[in-house]
Amino acid sequence: MAELTVRFLGSGDAFGHGGRLQACILLQWQGQRVLLDCGASALISLQRYGVEPNSIDGILISHLHGDHFGGLPFFILDAQLHSKRTRPLLLAGPQGLAARLEQAMEVNFPGSSQVERKFATQVTELTAGPAQEWCGLTVKAAEGVHASGAPALALRIEAAGKSIAYTGDTQWVDELMPLLSGADLLIAEAYFYERPIKFHMSCMDVLTRRGALNPGRLIFTHMSQDMLAHVGELNGETADDGMEITL
Ligand SMILES: [Zn+2]
Ligand SMILES: [Zn+2]
Repeated sequence: MAELTVRFLGSGDAFGHGGRLQACILLQWQGQRVLLDCGASALISLQRYGVEPNSIDGILISHLHGDHFGGLPFFILDAQLHSKRTRPLLLAGPQGLAARLEQAMEVNFPGSSQVERKFATQVTELTAGPAQEWCGLTVKAAEGVHASGAPALALRIEAAGKSIAYTGDTQWVDELMPLLSGADLLIAEAYFYERPIKFHMSCMDVLTRRGALNPGRLIFTHMSQDMLAHVGELNGETADDGMEITL
């Protein structure tokens, strides 16, 4: 069976805790390359880990916070000015992605959203519900509870016969269980170790439901200082920037 590799190019929270880069996860299978989230530091991630931006086929965004989608203006400008991209760039994310991307381009680089590019930018706005095909993946979304001015999506992705569930940022809600359970890999937010906090998931929110979630492998990411202080004593796996696994 074909392999699906997952490389954490950024495993941090929004605030650089632990010196980690923001959310950016590279999925590779059968010659395809997709970024799962594209935080503001994503281009630094790509440069640091030797990933050619033009090798990225598509970028899948969980929600419209800067540490998850803020790298898009930089990626698009790099594609235009440095990487000289010519093939289409596929983007997918929550409802409102196209408008927020245009706003982000204009805030960061005024005029940049209106410049004619040598490549097409194709935006697909996902809704919770049935799975759909996108960029060689099967993608299914469910809506989490995380205020970001647009729906925050938890995602389930299938490629090369393997499944990945990704919480994105969200408070734990039981409605997410069907989407997140039984995946070959569950990538879960662990913003705090156990402290309940509005709009975010703690490590213990997931560990106490591990039996029901029943992942083939569980990796925590998006860790604050509080969570990072518990990594040594944790009976579980945590992401590091640059870490790669194969499913
Ligand atoms: Zn967020
Ligand atoms: Zn975040």
